[in-house]
Amino acid sequence: MDVKLGPVIDFHAHHPNEPDFADRLVDLLPQAGIDTMCLCSAGAAFGHAPNDAILRAAQRHPGRIVALALIELGKDPPALVDEYAAQGYRGFKITDPRGPYDQEAYFPIYERMERTALPLLAHTGILMRTRMAPGRRVNSRWMRPVCLDAVVRSFPGLNVVGAHLGVPWHEEASMMARMHPNYYVDLTGAWWGGWRANKSADFYRYHFFWEGAWDKVLFGTDILRLEELLPAKRLHDELIEQLGLPDQAVRNIYGNTAARLLARQPCRIE
Ligand SMILES: [Zn+2]
Repeated sequence: MDVKLGPVIDFHAHHPNEPDFADRLVDLLPQAGIDTMCLCSAGAAFGHAPNDAILRAAQRHPGRIVALALIELGKDPPALVDEYAAQGYRGFKITDPRGPYDQEAYFPIYERMERTALPLLAHTGILMRTRMAPGRRVNSRWMRPVCLDAVVRSFPGLNVVGAHLGVPWHEEASMMARMHPNYYVDLTGAWWGGWRANKSADFYRYHFFWEGAWDKVLFGTDILRLEELLPAKRLHDELIEQLGLPDQAVRNIYGNTAARLLARQPCRIE
């Protein structure tokens, strides 16, 4: 990348259930050109590590690994939000809720998250197929970007990053980012041929057309395995390079915006 970047922060990556993953990951970061990885679990069903393993990794590698705590909507009590914040998690992750993200029953959780001023990474869009536990409903529609509309309106101090540009509800996702100062997106997808495989530069220009649009996009790789880091970073670099964005926009995508969210800086409310 030609642009002189500031800190490079991968805001969306995962930690598999392997004890030495984070240590090996940190060794690989200079080669990838990444300074900091925000790691989170999407739950045991996806083969991810539990929250506390990720927190321990962050404590072993301060400045390199940042832990985001998975909150299971419909299962975890609101008080857990404060406990996690006190323990040193720097943000939260939600995915696969038991009902729509904007279900009132979840609002006490969002209210507590807002009070911590820590950012929330939300899966948005279609969810990978996994074996469902008996009696458990999984529904991608509950994770449509617009299901976060009432959430970001009701809790203006809560910064939400909607992952995967809401695939396939891309326009819903970009309009959320346009309308709400506290809604951001990432462009993560499978690097070997996910939803971005046949998207041209025009696709991104179409969705991010307004002034400052690229300040609402955060770099992420969504990796779960070490081997994915370099190709996922390369694919993201290629995607950004082809757009010919101003240097400052590129710096914001790769780290400035994430750094601001992690530093608990409130969004601008226009
Ligand atoms: Zn993910």
